Amino acid sequence: MSKVRPKKHLGQHFLTDRNIAERIVESLSGHKGYEEVLEIGPGMGVLTDFLINKEEYRTSLIDIDSESVAYLKTHYKDLKGRIIEGDFLRLDPKTLFDKDFAVIGNFPYNISSQIFFKILEHRQTIPEVVCMLQKEVAERIASKEGNKIYGILSVLLQAFYDIDYLFTVGREVFNPPPKVESAVIRLRRNQVNKLDCDEALFKRVVKQGFNNRRKTLRNALKPLDLPDVIKKMDLLNKRAEQLTVDDFVFLTKAIADHKN
Ligand code: SAH
Repeated sequence: MSKVRPKKHLGQHFLTDRNIAERIVESLSGHKGYEEVLEIGPGMGVLTDFLINKEEYRTSLIDIDSESVAYLKTHYKDLKGRIIEGDFLRLDPKTLFDKDFAVIGNFPYNISSQIFFKILEHRQTIPEVVCMLQKEVAERIASKEGNKIYGILSVLLQAFYDIDYLFTVGREVFNPPPKVESAVIRLRRNQVNKLDCDEALFKRVVKQGFNNRRKTLRNALKPLDLPDVIKKMDLLNKRAEQLTVDDFVFLTKAIADHKN
């Protein structure tokens, strides 16, 4: 089998620049913290080529495309048993690893947000992520409060990970070229194991706050039916995009305290 035919509905844009591929793989930094790396969406293995030479960790692959998987199985015989045909969004990582693992990949851009929600769900076992995605989403994830592009994923991910925007990648190094520019980011889990508040409520507050990002929180959070003491807080004069992660934690705690 020679090549995989790029399929648009699977977000397949194959990276053709091996120098960039190597740079992405070299961006994994925490080799001492884990021995397993899962590559999401290897396609034709441009990253895999560099991953398999590493002695610090073992590489496993998951791709949803049977044509890619057939290609990978013929090219990476040493990875036998560690090439999975499947949907990362439906994967239960516990069936693969009984310890921590890092995630790497040039993500299918159409589902990059869903991939991050899935990573958050399993953050206890994922100390590091290095990935390429649309530049716009990368900037959003890495942005800080006070910024127009700061949003739900910025807050939820920054609550548990330190994020580095590493570098921008142009359209011309892909086959076929995507419509948008790309960027590579790295997420390294921080010291926060558990938030100092009800995490489910935290998520609701963040989501609701950003749903109406131009309104003050007093208005944006109306559907949560907040007690009057909370509505009087100065913090509620602000808009969601002005709050730090710690502000959201503080607010969530205050809401929980007054609901009891
Ligand atoms: N890493 C390769 C391919 C990137 S394209 C490269 O850089 O060239 C994105 C890849 O993700 C494709 O191979 C596609 O088949 C795969 N993919 C798409 N949706 C997926 C999903 N839900 N789970 C796992 N892989 C997926």
